[in-house]
Amino acid sequence: MPNNQTLGSNSKSILADTIPIAVSASHSHLSEEDFYHLFGENSKLIKWKDLSQPGQFAAQKVLTIKGPRGQIDNVRILGPFRNDTQIEISQTDAVKLGVSPPIRMSGDLKNSSPITLIGPHGILHKKHGLIIAQAHIHMSETEAALLNVKDQEIVKVEIISEVRQIQMMNVVVRVSPNFMLEMHIDTDEANAAAIATNQHGKLKK
Ligand SMILES: [Zn+2]
Repeated sequence: MPNNQTLGSNSKSILADTIPIAVSASHSHLSEEDFYHLFGENSKLIKWKDLSQPGQFAAQKVLTIKGPRGQIDNVRILGPFRNDTQIEISQTDAVKLGVSPPIRMSGDLKNSSPITLIGPHGILHKKHGLIIAQAHIHMSETEAALLNVKDQEIVKVEIISEVRQIQMMNVVVRVSPNFMLEMHIDTDEANAAAIATNQHGKLKK
């Protein structure tokens, strides 16, 4: 058999300069302390399924988030635990909750919005931690070199689509040895461009 089908999907993507897109629904990252407060001291953060970035997983547990106007149930917890609790929602969910969180990179929680978290065992009124995640591309150092971009660089991504052609601006490149090539957008961004699973984008400098 000719050995010309052995490239992984990521390698193929790089050859074509295209990036697989994954859509994130509103979700939460919790500190260990906040998790036990919400779910009880004997609770465990058990994996439901792996996410594409190595070591990251969707947990079995979900919580409720509440703002001045409304609440959203079944918000998935992603693991592992983080040092700081961070809730990432779409602008649509922000309107539903009655809050105005900033568009931020994950981990940048300065002046992020307050939010109430409700679990089966407790309630937490967080003074900050709510953001709308800025669209970003995870990649390894090798992938960054091949795509000729650096960590924290701002790029544009043209969504490859026959349905609705959209170019996303202000997309942040995030490089780490633990990452694999994948662009993360939220449900509003996906809906705006009618993006379905297995769609790709083209990186533009
Ligand atoms: Zn991400």
